[in-house]
Amino acid sequence: MSGRKRFFVDNITSREVVLDGEEFVHAKTVQRVEEGTEIILLDGSGKEYTAIVSKVEKRSLTANVISSADGDKEPETEIYLMCGALKGDKTELVVQKAVELGVSRIGIFSSEFCAAYMNGNKLERLNKVSREAAKQCMRSRAPEVIYFDKFSDALSSADGFENKLFACEFADKSERDIGGLGGSTAIIVGSEGGFSEREAECAQGAGFSSISLGKRILRAETAAIALTAVAAFALGELK
Ligand code: SAM
Repeated sequence: MSGRKRFFVDNITSREVVLDGEEFVHAKTVQRVEEGTEIILLDGSGKEYTAIVSKVEKRSLTANVISSADGDKEPETEIYLMCGALKGDKTELVVQKAVELGVSRIGIFSSEFCAAYMNGNKLERLNKVSREAAKQCMRSRAPEVIYFDKFSDALSSADGFENKLFACEFADKSERDIGGLGGSTAIIVGSEGGFSEREAECAQGAGFSSISLGKRILRAETAAIALTAVAAFALGELK
């Protein structure tokens, strides 16, 4: 594992790159980056840029890119996790674990029995959790976290996925064999309040297959992490 610290920047258009804002504060005060330190810069394109810090100032640092390479930790198969908004910091936990497990996108939605709310600050916080998790597990992309106010919009955001799995707490058995999955996969898990019958019907109408996770009712965050891990394993992403 590389000991070089990793930082996201908006874009890299020249050899000289300026790091500012939150990532700069993290670099300077937490990671103790100084002039001469070799770091990795990530622009979200999947590339990793090796750079040497040439100047550290009060609010920014400058680094010179010396080489670039494609990151090799990104998933081969697209996994899209959607989860109902959860109370407290549980949505953050789901985002962090989903990023580690290799999802490419994360959707958080509101639904009939959902008791948590979302606002701009919370969504920005979730995207920060995604960036931190991506850096920690050496990914070169941080999955974007998006919010859907309407459950129907969350369902239609999975149009085009080859597999669509709907974790349904009142399903007697699974309509799909997860072990045999192949191809892009979208997963939906409900909030603490679960789904209504009507929402389950809408998911069916949008092409989702009901999945049972067994006879015990799992907490929403357990269900989201467990189903993502099982799907990632079946897709060969945890080998
Ligand atoms: N409030 C619901 C109830 O009392 O039945 C339970 C909701 S559960 C805490 C949250 C979500 O986790 C569910 O909507 C579902 O997506 C998923 N889940 C939990 N246990 C499950 C199971 N045994 N099978 C399928 N999905 C499950």
